Amino acid sequence: MTVEFRGLRRTYGPTVALDGLDLTVAQGELIALLGPSGCGKTTALRCVAGFERPDSGMVLIDGNDVTRVPANRRDAGMVFQSYSLFPNLNARDNVAFGMRVRRRPVAERHSRADELLELVGLAGRGDRYPHQLSGGQQQRVALARALALAPKVLLLDEPLSALDAKVRVSLREEIRRLQLELGITTVFVTHDQEEALSVADRVAVLKDGRLEQVGAPAEIYDRPATPFVAEFVGTMNHIPGRVTGDRVEVLGQLLPIDGTAPGELVDVLVRPEAVRVTPAEAGPALIMASSFRGSTARLRVQLADDSQLLADVPGHDAVRLAPGLRVDVSVVERPVLVTARAATSDDESVVSA
Ligand code: ADP
Ligand code: MG
Repeated sequence: MTVEFRGLRRTYGPTVALDGLDLTVAQGELIALLGPSGCGKTTALRCVAGFERPDSGMVLIDGNDVTRVPANRRDAGMVFQSYSLFPNLNARDNVAFGMRVRRRPVAERHSRADELLELVGLAGRGDRYPHQLSGGQQQRVALARALALAPKVLLLDEPLSALDAKVRVSLREEIRRLQLELGITTVFVTHDQEEALSVADRVAVLKDGRLEQVGAPAEIYDRPATPFVAEFVGTMNHIPGRVTGDRVEVLGQLLPIDGTAPGELVDVLVRPEAVRVTPAEAGPALIMASSFRGSTARLRVQLADDSQLLADVPGHDAVRLAPGLRVDVSVVERPVLVTARAATSDDESVVSA
């Protein structure tokens, strides 16, 4: 089953939640809808589920226009951010709820619910009530419930954001495993870029109700199409540069440009992992701070002009590259993205997280 958003527009009074969203999710694909709070992710998902009707544009499931089909006839399973289980029903009855509404026989309901609970790693927990389950377990039940009627499409609205970090990672891996196993076309909404990059076949970045870029995770990360995507996905240094011909001079280096330069004076966008830091007794730069992250350490380095850069180095170099050390700074030789220099940035580099 494919899911297609075609020119989807939805307003709430003066607020434009969706502003002509175009996106096609392929059969069996998991697409992450990624964007900041308020960019229209939930509205887009609710339009697919049938809880929301667009002002204009269409939603197609498997090529059929379902824009006017009621939610209960759309074959979409949905999981919400907050635990949406019925508190007075145990896990089994929560999972079986949709089957009960459809008047399936009790025995069938129960065996199917237990089967699904097993699928999401909750075998034997069918008798537990929501308050007897952890947050992660409750979301597993919600996932089982969404899958109970064998939907054509799975819709996940920030399903992990209320969970703590460890559970979030393990549950997202499990959702992905399950999704691949079932081959179910899935739209996974998140504002967490790491989550989007790690779980999806493709990431669709939304801004102000429009699609900003869609592509494989590595493509979104390495080749952001717009400054917004570059900023939103991962961390970027902005270093002032000067374009000469097809190259840009940055930190005294001449680097090839990816794409076309918007002018002579530009901001060069460089990831922290592309900044090289080497000890140099009379080096022009100074390590100001270091935060150890295990496999890597992130350094904050001050340049001669007082601007600062972030640099990621291998974790085992963290002791050697300590705050107070004078260093040389360079950019790993590879094409870089350049954008028009921000009017406010003067000649100062801006570090953004
Ligand atoms: P996201 O899920 O990306 O955070 P939403 O789709 O929930 O964004 O919301 C997009 C925009 O539409 C926001 O500005 C939000 O305040 C607005 N909005 C969403 N639902 C409603 C509603 N029922 N009434 C009024 N405004 C809404
Ligand atoms: Mg939302």
